[in-house]
Amino acid sequence: MVTTYAIIGLGRFGLSLASKLFEAGQEVLGVDMNEERVEDAHPYVTHALIADSTDAEALKSIAIRNIDTVIVAIGNDIQASILTVLLLKELGVRKVIAKAVNKLHGQVLYKVGADWVIHPERDMGIRVAHQLLSPNVLNFIELSKDYSVEEIKIPDNMTKKSLREIDLRARFNLSVIAIRRNHDINISPSPDETMDKGDVLVVIGKNKDLERFANVDSLMK
Ligand code: ATP
Repeated sequence: MVTTYAIIGLGRFGLSLASKLFEAGQEVLGVDMNEERVEDAHPYVTHALIADSTDAEALKSIAIRNIDTVIVAIGNDIQASILTVLLLKELGVRKVIAKAVNKLHGQVLYKVGADWVIHPERDMGIRVAHQLLSPNVLNFIELSKDYSVEEIKIPDNMTKKSLREIDLRARFNLSVIAIRRNHDINISPSPDETMDKGDVLVVIGKNKDLERFANVDSLMK
């Protein structure tokens, strides 16, 4: 199904988001008040146009309320970002996602009606720290404060062992939901599945248990 998106603010963040959605076959309208940014965006979006998103008339003239999801990717001009979100919600846009540059900005964006606020710099900082602290963790999704799903590279000494032998449930209180081997993914692997070097386990559990497992290289010694 094709969803229509508008990305307001075609900086590095906005443009990379827009081009990824466009590549995935979605309909993407790119909006920026800077003519050069709009010119540069043309190859990466369905349509790109110049408009000031703090101008309600300009937003109306591009029929913004008919777009499924609008992403406000303006960062530095906090006032413009807040005003844009406010106008979009007043004009009846169903889903508005906005980028915040700090915590207070994020709180205000929620107050004026944003449906989802993202903090790209903060989240990327957390992600990089996580990766440095646990190099075996390739990716993770936080499900709540205490629980996550993580992709964890198996330690070398686990190769040739079966899931049953490794027994993550008893040892670490973790459930294996999939095994990634090169480009293949095996969902619901059998307990007799044996591990190859370089396999990645997709594991769900409590953060402290995940951390214990991700940092145990001597597990099977
Ligand atoms: P990034 O960090 O994503 O590269 P940036 O540092 O270039 O962003 P931002 O201030 O976050 O700068 O602005 C992103 C884009 O939003 C810029 O291209 C800017 O022209 C555009 N922009 C800012 N205010 C408005 C506005 N009121 N209407 C439309 N576009 C705007």
